[in-house]
Amino acid sequence: MFRALLLEKADDDTISATVKELDESSLPDGDATVDVEYSTVNYKDGLAIVNGAPVVRSWPMVPGIDFVGVRQDTGARVVLNGWGVGESHWGGFAQKARVPSEWLVELPESISNLRAAAIGTAGFTAMLCVLALEQHDITPGSGPVLVTGAAGGVGSVAVAVLAKLGYEVHASTGRPEESDYLRSLGASEIVARDELTGAVRPLAKGRWIGAVDAVGGVTLANVLSMIKDSGCVAACGNAGGMDLPASVAPFILRGVTLAGVNSVTVPHDRRVIAWQRLARDLDVVKLDEMTTVVGLDDVVRVAHEILAGRVRGRVVVDVNA
Ligand code: NDP
Repeated sequence: MFRALLLEKADDDTISATVKELDESSLPDGDATVDVEYSTVNYKDGLAIVNGAPVVRSWPMVPGIDFVGVRQDTGARVVLNGWGVGESHWGGFAQKARVPSEWLVELPESISNLRAAAIGTAGFTAMLCVLALEQHDITPGSGPVLVTGAAGGVGSVAVAVLAKLGYEVHASTGRPEESDYLRSLGASEIVARDELTGAVRPLAKGRWIGAVDAVGGVTLANVLSMIKDSGCVAACGNAGGMDLPASVAPFILRGVTLAGVNSVTVPHDRRVIAWQRLARDLDVVKLDEMTTVVGLDDVVRVAHEILAGRVRGRVVVDVNA
């Protein structure tokens, strides 16, 4: 038997989320069974637990889009990010998980299980965004870069990694009370969220050569209008909206690139690179500063908090606590 947070949908479509004791035989198909140690609460987990659809595509569901643990067959320390886990395949808010082994990445030796969980899918995605900027020749010498939704999970890791790599990092937040926190992660300038939520102009004064955007919507449209010649925005999030009310002007008049980042189905070799880079380029002291640890029984509360934009940094779930 193992403990898991189970999402169930009743005949009248109401959703319940309850920690239950489940039998190992109820685990889904897969050739690798993992003794899960940690999962984390990501924005998508908030959507799954509070709203169900469209994130949850099969019922009942154990949510949790990532986990870190030990493979029962090989004893390897592994991490899983994405692949529809916690959406269409049972996920990480459980003491056991069973998945196809090709979904798992072995952790670099220098990252502890707890720190890998603290990085989680949000931090992994932040690194994929940094890799996208690098692919488009945005280097620390190119000019300042912006991170939106900076005090959240993706944003916090992006700020810390970019600062460690030597970029001049500007952090956009709607929570001015988090300014000191963001400066401690390495941001040199704080940009008020309001500066990026006004009417979108086709082109505005160029302020940044690159950006990591976790917000989408009007924010992303404004950011695009403020990117300098040949700059690049790595877009991964929709915390501020799914739409993109933008102009083509930044693309055709400044040669700006909009690079989409999807952590769910990124190929295995790129995952390995991203985890190696996280082991090298993320200051663990800063990572520890941005991490809170909770138990399985706290997940539903945190799910509501993350959707309300009240979570700072990363929340790790110790499934055995
Ligand atoms: P968090 O909730 O931790 O961070 C999101 C941040 O966005 C908030 O902390 C807040 O930052 C800002 N924000 C929230 N609501 C609004 C709003 N209405 N307008 C403007 N800014 C807002 O979530 P995560 O960091 O885990 O995820 C961020 C986004 O990235 C989500 O949309 C998530 O779904 C997406 N994501 C995408 C992945 C992919 O593979 N593409 C993988 C992982 C996440 P502040 O208070 O500093 O303003």
